[in-house]
Amino acid sequence: MASQAAHHLHSHFTSLPLPSRRPRNGYSAPRSLTVTASKNPPIQGRKLRAAVVGGGPAGSSTAEALASGGVETFLFERSPADAKPCGGAIPLCMLDEFRIPLRLVDRHVTEMRIISPSNLTVDFGKTLQPGEFIAMVRREVLDSFLRSRAESAGASLITGLVTDLEVPTSGSAPYVVHYISNSSRRTLAVDVVVGADGANSRVAKSIKAGDYSCAIAFQERIRLPDEKMEYYQNLAEMYLGDDVSPDFYAWVFPKCDHVAVGTGTVCSKPDIKAFQRGMRERVKPKIAGGKVIKVEAHPIPEHPRPVRVLGRAALVGDAAGYVTKCSGEGIYFAAKSGRMCGEAIVKASEGGMRAVTEEDLRREYLREWDARYLSTYRLLDLLQSVFYRSNATREALVELCGGEYVQRMSLDSYMYKRLAAGNRWEDVKMAANTVGSLLRCQIMGRRMEALKA
Ligand SMILES: Cc1cc2nc3c(=O)[nH]c(=O)nc-3n(C[C@H](O)[C@H](O)[C@H](O)COP(=O)(O)OP(=O)(O)OC[C@H]3O[C@@H](n4cnc5c(N)ncnc54)[C@H](O)[C@@H]3O)c2cc1C
Repeated sequence: MASQAAHHLHSHFTSLPLPSRRPRNGYSAPRSLTVTASKNPPIQGRKLRAAVVGGGPAGSSTAEALASGGVETFLFERSPADAKPCGGAIPLCMLDEFRIPLRLVDRHVTEMRIISPSNLTVDFGKTLQPGEFIAMVRREVLDSFLRSRAESAGASLITGLVTDLEVPTSGSAPYVVHYISNSSRRTLAVDVVVGADGANSRVAKSIKAGDYSCAIAFQERIRLPDEKMEYYQNLAEMYLGDDVSPDFYAWVFPKCDHVAVGTGTVCSKPDIKAFQRGMRERVKPKIAGGKVIKVEAHPIPEHPRPVRVLGRAALVGDAAGYVTKCSGEGIYFAAKSGRMCGEAIVKASEGGMRAVTEEDLRREYLREWDARYLSTYRLLDLLQSVFYRSNATREALVELCGGEYVQRMSLDSYMYKRLAAGNRWEDVKMAANTVGSLLRCQIMGRRMEALKA
């Protein structure tokens, strides 16, 4: 029954006009995107059809790459007017790589302050070169820009909530997307599906991609009096301590006319509001007189999903679980994974002319992604488990962050998404300092506990 319906829809959509090929408008195909001979069967009389579910950075970047590469692309977004709860910090390289105009950037952060549980403060911007900064954006602004660009590249934006995905049982039958748009239930048959629908991914559920553990992040947007806002002009703060999070950090990020104050935790989710209260206490004098204009919370994936590609469906961004531990960064990785997945489909389908297979998605997208980023995820995972374990290890982390070498290495890696060229002697010193700081702070921590007892 389901496959009959799918066949009907398939024929129905075959007669749809293809989206007109508009200029690429900002999207530049990467040099490595070469079209190679494929053994996949050609598609007759139409182009390959792809549904991208979710219009965040992952979905829009997927859709832009697909549409620019000749694939007939449908981008589903349930609420284009809303803003994803997010701190909105993005690395410098993203502006270039994704051609994000400077006018979208609210703040150029050049000072980062890390504050330890005992309020030891380290300024983290010493090694920044002129013109280097961390960009602060509002997600409603960034997301709507990226979605419009996907549309300009030829993707059809469908404002609708995807409620289900019928997975075909045969190799060439279509996937059927069920969605609600303008209060009516509709369906769309496609050849390929990309799940870019975030941490609660419907696509992941439909393809039985398995679960991952999630942190919960809570954030308040607070409008400050002018003189208080002045303090956060180009400054972002990270607070560490059991009072603000048992396993993550809390933050104050500056936005256009307000600050985002938030925190997150994996191991103690029911207490998230208590941690936010702890955070408000820590920043009390700096936000005095502020007015809360928005309160938001959202899950943050902790690890990649057990399955990220199945059949002709792939997951990208938060749906795939691509947020880094330690920093909780996900916007760049969402956009990057979306673009890589879109390009993989374009390449395997020879510009939308041929069918694609699971093996294509694995080879061209998954393996490439893992080869490029898996080690980064593992390293940050390790750092989080070493340094966010107790107040003593957090003190050690802040102490270490005072070192110029540590600052340069971590900022370069963050801002340019490449491992900064190190210096062997400095690496040895850094390792020795790490062990020294950890030991010293553990011993101090134990002494403090003993004194309290
Ligand atoms: C409080 C908080 C602060 C954060 N701060 C930062 C930060 O400062 N920097 C950083 O890099 N990362 C940050 N992150 C992580 C970052 O927000 C995510 O990694 C990023 O948004 C992932 O992008 P995405 O496109 O994969 O998913 P999302 O941004 O979640 O986008 C998914 C989209 O899919 C749509 N959608 C979902 N389900 C459906 C459906 N069934 N049908 C149709 N549409 C659907 C949603 O409306 C949404 O627009 C933060 C996260 C949180 C929660």
